[in-house]
Amino acid sequence: MNTPISSLQDASHAPDHDPHCLFCKIVAKQIPSRAVYEDAEFYAFHDIAPWAPVHFLLIPKQHIASMAHISEVHVGLMGRMMALVPRLALQEGCNPYPEGGYRLVTNTGAEGGQEVRHLHFHIMGGARPWLRG
Ligand code: AMP
Ligand code: ZN
Repeated sequence: MNTPISSLQDASHAPDHDPHCLFCKIVAKQIPSRAVYEDAEFYAFHDIAPWAPVHFLLIPKQHIASMAHISEVHVGLMGRMMALVPRLALQEGCNPYPEGGYRLVTNTGAEGGQEVRHLHFHIMGGARPWLRG
């Protein structure tokens, strides 16, 4: 039987910072980035090697290594993260749906093409052609 969400430990008890993680260092402003958005839980910043006219990354400030580490304890956090995407995409210049739109990508693990092991959403949009994708 599935464990009820209410009986699982709250996600906030997980270690929330990895001193060796590139994106944790970006959150801590130890490495510079170009900010798109910031609140208590999330940070968004421009990708350093954009594939598309609009290409930014949205991350939880808490260190979560990948989508493979997401479970029921993260449903609230993930819901709030997803809900930011449409707003930030338009803010950053993605054209309105349906003629415009964007790609939302989360590479997971080596075979999923993940290079940075801190959960991140790629949001890519703008007029085509793009460099990749
Ligand atoms: P992934 O392959 O899904 O792990 O994507 C990692 C992304 O992080 C790539 O698109 C990189 O261009 C981007 N990236 C790496 N270092 C930085 C950095 N210092 N600032 C912004 N983006 C970065
Ligand atoms: Zn991290």
